[in-house]
Amino acid sequence: MAAMRYEGSSIDPTRPSIARVYDYLLGGKDNYAVDREIGDVFKRDLPGSVAIAFANRAALTRVVREIAKTTGIRQFIDLGSGLPTADNVHQVAQRHAPESRVVYVDIDVQVLVHGRALLEDNDRTRVVAVDVRDPEGIRSHPVTLELIDFSRPVAVIFSAILHHVNDDEDPAGIVRYWRDQVPPGSHFFLSHFRSGDNPETKEAEKVLQQTFGRGRWRTDEEIASLLDGLEILDPGIVPAPLWRPDESGHPWNSGGAGRELTVWEHLIVAAMARKPDSP
Ligand code: SAM
Repeated sequence: MAAMRYEGSSIDPTRPSIARVYDYLLGGKDNYAVDREIGDVFKRDLPGSVAIAFANRAALTRVVREIAKTTGIRQFIDLGSGLPTADNVHQVAQRHAPESRVVYVDIDVQVLVHGRALLEDNDRTRVVAVDVRDPEGIRSHPVTLELIDFSRPVAVIFSAILHHVNDDEDPAGIVRYWRDQVPPGSHFFLSHFRSGDNPETKEAEKVLQQTFGRGRWRTDEEIASLLDGLEILDPGIVPAPLWRPDESGHPWNSGGAGRELTVWEHLIVAAMARKPDSP
């Protein structure tokens, strides 16, 4: 297991953070000049790449709504939750099932600060600053113990987080840990950078690796292996815009509405999986 030092473990306005660059790309205001500089590399030099962030958020929203509406699950652990200001997991889940409880986990202390402000009046939702590579630390955190009942199905969310975990940090082992902690019927959401073996993938990977030393674009086989032992539900592991698109009217939910997806939209995949009943 890697050392637990991480670039987001304190707020440093002189170094870019993944959470703040992502916030900038989504149009948020919780970022510094240093984050905007990296974000602008994507916007300017890799036009269209911002679609990855929007397509990913839209798929996450559809998944959470689906889980809240159809599975009876009322508890969510969102690993690497980020900073977004609108339509976060708790807002979507509690809109459909107000009793839903949500634990947000992020290494970036700014997410903790932002989350506390956002959640002042919400005693069913909390944020903890723990490294996703320390699943035991998350599982045994007092907030997790208070909000999550591990004898009942849980939704475990890995939305755009495992590509920030390098191979030698065992991303599959992290999913396996959570798979073993939760009962059958629990659901998992995974979204992940998908390698397209094209110039866009290589360039985007280079920018992320140079900036953060992480950002791994995995093949379909590598992504599927992260969900080992889980039953992958329809429509499988697909470009995020194609994960159960709907008619909600928002363009990011329309699955492209009949047009060809862009190269970038193929580079973020989404999947929902279920822990099967014991044999
Ligand atoms: N899950 C959100 C979504 O899909 O919109 C945010 C994704 S953002 C690309 C990745 C988030 O993971 C950032 O907020 C970053 O701080 C967080 N992160 C990166 N590495 C992490 C780690 N080792 N432990 C916990 N959080 C981490």
